[in-house]
Amino acid sequence: MLEPLVRVDRASLHFGSAGDTVRAVNDVSCVVRAGDRIAITGPSGSGKSCLLSLMAGLETPTLGTVKWPATGSPQPLRPRHIAMAFQTQTLLPALTVYENVEIPLLILCDNQDAESRIHNLLRIFDLDHLADRLPEELSGGQAQRVGLARALVTNPGLVLADEPTGQLDQSTGQTAIDSVLAYLHGSSSALVIATHDLAVARRMQTNWRMSFGHLNSSPAEATL
Ligand code: ADP
Ligand code: MG
Repeated sequence: MLEPLVRVDRASLHFGSAGDTVRAVNDVSCVVRAGDRIAITGPSGSGKSCLLSLMAGLETPTLGTVKWPATGSPQPLRPRHIAMAFQTQTLLPALTVYENVEIPLLILCDNQDAESRIHNLLRIFDLDHLADRLPEELSGGQAQRVGLARALVTNPGLVLADEPTGQLDQSTGQTAIDSVLAYLHGSSSALVIATHDLAVARRMQTNWRMSFGHLNSSPAEATL
C-alpha cells in the first residue's frame, strides 16, 4: 500500500496557559491516503479547522506527531504538495482574480501551461468573466471559489478545504463541490473538507466527525 500523504498520531493542539487551556484537538489519530475524499463534520468549535491546520503543517501539535510520509518533510509542503482553501477571505486585495490564482505557480516557478491551467480553473468555477476583477469587487461566494481555484492550480497531492461552501447558498455550494470533485476525478490527489453542510459531506466517500477536539474516524460510528 502507498505511504499515507499525512499521518496524524495521537496529536493534540492546545492553546492558552495552564489553568486556562483550550484543547482544540485532543488525542487525534488519522491517516489520509492518495485518492481519499473525506468530509469532517462537527459543531462549531469542535476542532475541524485546527485539525486541518495540523494536516497542513501550519500548526505544530502540542502533543503527538503529524508526518507526511509520502512527501517526506523537510521538503517544503506548501504549495507544492499541500494546498489549503481557507474559511476566511485570503485573496490579495491588490491582485486580480487571475493573478490571485496564479500566485502558487509563481512561487513554484511553474510556468508550464500556466495560462491555460488558470483559465481552465476559472471556467470550471464560473469565474472566467471575473478574471480581471479585484477581490473587493467580488461577492463572498465568488471569492471563496477563487480560493478553491487557487488551491487546485498546482495539482497538489493533498487539498484541504475549510468550510469551502460557507459563503455559498446550498445549490451554488453543491455546484462548487461538484466542480472540485470533477476537477480531481481520476487524479490521485486527496481531498479533505471541513464542512457544516451535510449535503456536501454526503458527496464524500468518507465522513469523520469531530466533537470537543476528538475525532470519530470509524465509518461505522460516524453519524451526521
Ligand atoms: P471549528 O473549525 O470546528 O469550528 P476550530 O478548530 O476553529 O473549530 O476551534 C477549536 C477550538 O479552538 C475553539 O474553541 C476555538 O475557539 C479554539 N481556537 C482555535 N484557534 C485558536 C487560537 N489561535 N487561539 C486560541 N484558541 C483557539
Ligand atoms: Mg472552522
